[in-house]
Amino acid sequence: MVDEALHDVVILGAGPAGLAAAIYTTRSRLDTVVLDAQGGGGQLAIIDRIENYPGFDKAVTGMELFEAMRRQAEGFGVQVGFDQAQKLEADDASVTVIGDAGRYRARALIVATGARHRELCIPSEERLKGRGVSYCATCDGNFFAKKPVAVIGGGDTAVKEAIYLSRIVEKVYLVHRRDRLRAEALLQERIRERPNVEFCFDSVVDEIEGTDAVSGVRLKNTKTGELRRIAVEGVFVFVGILPNAEFLSGHVDLDPLGFVRTDPRMRTRHPRIFAAGDVRADSVRQIGAAVGDGITAAVTIQEMLDTETPPRRCGPECAI
Ligand code: NAP
Repeated sequence: MVDEALHDVVILGAGPAGLAAAIYTTRSRLDTVVLDAQGGGGQLAIIDRIENYPGFDKAVTGMELFEAMRRQAEGFGVQVGFDQAQKLEADDASVTVIGDAGRYRARALIVATGARHRELCIPSEERLKGRGVSYCATCDGNFFAKKPVAVIGGGDTAVKEAIYLSRIVEKVYLVHRRDRLRAEALLQERIRERPNVEFCFDSVVDEIEGTDAVSGVRLKNTKTGELRRIAVEGVFVFVGILPNAEFLSGHVDLDPLGFVRTDPRMRTRHPRIFAAGDVRADSVRQIGAAVGDGITAAVTIQEMLDTETPPRRCGPECAI
């Protein structure tokens, strides 16, 4: 698709940050294009229980929250297009996103592409992916009903997903490389109440065993070097996240892990490129924080464009 128009804003990513930004830019009558590589939601869509997003006094699923955000955005005219950004071209006046399906040019770009899971990067993990090795408890947990599984990691995600799995599977071995969890206190309290969770602290995965399917995990004690085998049929890996920001290379500053550096108004080094949500360095990686980032970026862009020309109105009557 060749999109010759100069839009006001292109937003990459239709998760909480991107949709919040889009709600604000469309309500400000900025001509906005929202693109998502997978249809939207990002990591939000696979969370099974959210109870810390303000405004909901009962827990909701990530999908329910995403659908509510999307419906709200659509009510203001936001349409989410499918495309994955591969490259950018940027000058003083505009930014062009080059995607798999087309080119999109705008006076400002908000990068809200989020993050993806990290892997253990051991050969047996690669070999057994989809054959017992998983990165999503909500998606795959049911395959392991009444079977033993290992969860790797000690952060919020690992503990949350281990709690979820403990309701389905026979037993969860929570494998963490240190002697204490990183997860927030409430999650730690909850997981300690689960009768079928065994903690394997000071332990890393040395090898995932199995030929066509996972049959066990060999753990190595980080203090003693001792090896131990646990018999499990599933291995769920939650060892942190990596930013979806490779396509920005050269245009913005990144931190050592590749997250986008911004100032508090979500400005990057390039005056027309903004970043919001999990892709941003220093993000606290909460849904509410991502929403706040998206809104901040949208308001900052609105102020910037207001100083350049009067805001244009969206809609066919203003097709100039
Ligand atoms: P995280 O907080 O970075 O935790 C990653 C965990 O994996 C850490 O415990 C880390 O160990 C461990 N780890 C990293 N590399 C490892 C390796 N190679 N082998 C073994 N273990 C390894 O990541 P996350 O849990 O995915 O959370 C990401 C962000 O989202 C965080 O900011 C988190 O607060 C947020 N989040 C919030 C919620 C919520 O409900 N509020 C839910 C999910 C995520 P160390 O502890 O030793 O570093």
